[in-house]
Amino acid sequence: MDRFDLSFLHLRFLDIVDIILVAIIIYYLYNLIRGTIAVNIVLGLIIIYLVYIVTEQLHMRLLSNILGGFVSVGFLALIIVFQQEIRRFLLLIGKNAALHRNKIWETFIPGNKEAENINIPSIKHIIEACKTMQHSRTGALIVFAKYFDDQFYQNTGEAIDGFISKRLIESIFKKNSPLHDGAMVISEGKIKCASCILPVSDNIKLPAQYGLRHRAGIGITELSDAVAVIVSEETGQLAYAKQGRVRMDVTYEDLEKLLIRDI
Ligand code: ATP
Ligand code: MG
Repeated sequence: MDRFDLSFLHLRFLDIVDIILVAIIIYYLYNLIRGTIAVNIVLGLIIIYLVYIVTEQLHMRLLSNILGGFVSVGFLALIIVFQQEIRRFLLLIGKNAALHRNKIWETFIPGNKEAENINIPSIKHIIEACKTMQHSRTGALIVFAKYFDDQFYQNTGEAIDGFISKRLIESIFKKNSPLHDGAMVISEGKIKCASCILPVSDNIKLPAQYGLRHRAGIGITELSDAVAVIVSEETGQLAYAKQGRVRMDVTYEDLEKLLIRDI
C-alpha cells in the first residue's frame, strides 16, 4: 500500500515537471515562429486537422480518408515543413547550453559581471564611430552579445579580440576593407570578431525596404538576447534592434541610453 502511494506521488510530481517542460517548449516554439510565415502554416495544419475530425465524426468517408492520409504522415510532414524552424530551435538549445557551459561558476564571483560589461568610454567610442559612418554613408552592423559564443559567431567571421576604439570600428567598416562585409560582434567589453554572417530574419511584417543588413541585425536579436545597431548605407539612418523588433531613426542620445540600458 505504502509503495503504491509513493509511486503515485512520484508520478504526480513528474506530471508537473512534464507539463512545465511542455509549456516551456511551446513558449520557445511560439517565440520562434511569432510574426513569421510559419504561423500561417500552423493555422493551416490546425484547420486540416479540425476538418478531418469533423468529417470522421460525420462518417464522410471519402474526405476523411483523404485527410486521414495527410494526418497519418503528420509527424513527417511537420519535420519537412518546419525544417527551418526546427533547425533554429535546435540551434537555440545548443547555443544556450554552450553559452552557459563556462559561465555558471563565474556568476558566483562577486563583481565579475561588472568586469565583463562594456564601460561608458567604450560606448562613447562606438557612438562617435556611428556618427562618422553615418556622415560618410558607410553601412555598418554591430551586434552586442551578452555572452560570446565562439562557435556561433566565429565560424563565419574573423576573430579580432581587440579593444573598442572609434578608429578600429571605422576602419573595419570602411568600404574597401576586407572585413567591412557582415557584422561586427562586441561582447565582454571587446570587439570579438568582424565580418560575421548572421541569421537573416524572415519576419513578414518587416517593411519591404529593409535589406539584408537590417534583416540580419534583426535576425540575431530574434535568436538570442543580443542587440544590434545598424547604420544604413543608403539613408545614413541609425537603427536599433532588440528581441526581433527594430527602432528606426535613433538619435545619438537615444542610442547612448539604449546601449547603457541593454548591454
Ligand atoms: P542599407 O540601408 O545599408 O542599404 P539594407 O538593409 O538595405 O542596408 P543591404 O543593402 O542588403 O541591406 O546590405 C547588404 C550588406 O549587408 C552586405 O554588404 C553585408 O555587409 C550585409 N549583410 C548581408 N547579409 C548579411 C548577413 N546574413 N549577416 C551579416 N551581414 C549581412
Ligand atoms: Mg540596401
